[in-house]
Amino acid sequence: MADCIFCGIVDGTIPSEKLYEDEMVVAFRDIHAQAPVHVLVIPKEHIPSIQEVEEESGELLARIFSTINRLAKEHGLADRGYRIVNNCGEEGGQTVHHVHFHLLGGRSLTWPPG
Ligand code: C5P
Repeated sequence: MADCIFCGIVDGTIPSEKLYEDEMVVAFRDIHAQAPVHVLVIPKEHIPSIQEVEEESGELLARIFSTINRLAKEHGLADRGYRIVNNCGEEGGQTVHHVHFHLLGGRSLTWPPG
């Protein structure tokens, strides 16, 4: 989608440090890391938010979470623990309107979020 930063990352017109890519998803380092490991996992398809994810998106969601699982192992987080975050909409703190999941880890994370 034109004017979408993450669509630009998918097609390579916007630079990113990609850690994984397949036909459905891309994973890249967040440019404003909030933890030693802070990776975003996104679908290649432009879906504005989790609110637009349908039951038919089951395979895509499975791919997103299996990608997170593998990245967590690769970054030494599987035994330590980590957090997966999806911000949705204005009050949820979503700033990029292309659905994405944050993988955060490598330090002790506090709760509740702000
Ligand atoms: O969940 P939210 O929409 O707030 O998160 C968007 C995230 O995308 C931010 O953490 C921001 O640092 C990240 N970002 C990025 N690369 C860009 C633009 C935004 O990693 N080019």
